[in-house]
Amino acid sequence: MSQVVLKLSNAQIEKMALHYKPFLLPKIPPGGVFAAKLTSCSVTAYKSGKVLFQGSSCESEAKKWGQPELTATTKAPSSSKSSNLPDQFETLSVIGSDEVGTGDFFGPITVVAAYVKKDHIPLLKELGVKDSKGLKDDQIAVIAKQIKEVIPYSLLTLQNEKYNQLQQSGMSQGKLKALLHNQAIGHVLNKIAPEKPEAILIDQFAKKEVYYQYLKGQKVIQTENVYFSTKAESVHLAVAAASILARYAFVQHFDKLSKEAGFTIPKGAGAQVDIAAAKLIKSKGKDVLPHFVKLHFANTDKAWNLIKKKK
Ligand code: MN
Repeated sequence: MSQVVLKLSNAQIEKMALHYKPFLLPKIPPGGVFAAKLTSCSVTAYKSGKVLFQGSSCESEAKKWGQPELTATTKAPSSSKSSNLPDQFETLSVIGSDEVGTGDFFGPITVVAAYVKKDHIPLLKELGVKDSKGLKDDQIAVIAKQIKEVIPYSLLTLQNEKYNQLQQSGMSQGKLKALLHNQAIGHVLNKIAPEKPEAILIDQFAKKEVYYQYLKGQKVIQTENVYFSTKAESVHLAVAAASILARYAFVQHFDKLSKEAGFTIPKGAGAQVDIAAAKLIKSKGKDVLPHFVKLHFANTDKAWNLIKKKK
């Protein structure tokens, strides 16, 4: 992203704040005076007198107010960043990791770490890799089959028998996820060695400190160049690719469960899954439940309530 930094007087910054009034953002970064977002330029003024212009029209926008004092130092002050990611992060060679299924009553948790080299980014874009939340299951399948052939990845599937066992032994879902991410990333690092990624990006489900707290006591803990971001699928294609592969595996497993159940199992954790679980208990008996569902979800009791009511 291109950017320009100006050093301006307080009076000028006050004038700017008035000028950009219609575009001011409610959130001001630490040490900031104001932040404004125009169509193709964002403007952030700091108490130090530095004003940062970022975006495609940043040069023309900055020109309205003065000349950059040092054209060479166009690095953003760290406080202006919403995250701690390195510059041009989207262009780096990155291992991304993401998980699917943690909020679904039925079905496993699938975690995928995937390595996307910078040279592969254009191809992945061409194949349609993007935020999987905007993709339908059939599109996911098409893309997943193609990228599987191109990028190194590791898929871990935590089946519900095992999930329930670990959960009942006192392990939180957060810890389970952390263990799976750490392991999947380790597998990919082994696969690509001696090559190393420029960064590892985890779709953030817990704060960094909490994540590493979960991993305490593990033999191998990935810490080198590891970054966390929410909505990481839109931060780097590696996470988008990981998410697509995780969702594809999840959907495939789900189809298998539907076949075993003899009817289509619904996703999510709404009322429809209570009904499906009640139906399953009635047709196959309660002993099959730990194979199909995450028992600690409130849906288990709700399913039983449905059965009791009908008696
Ligand atoms: Mn995620």
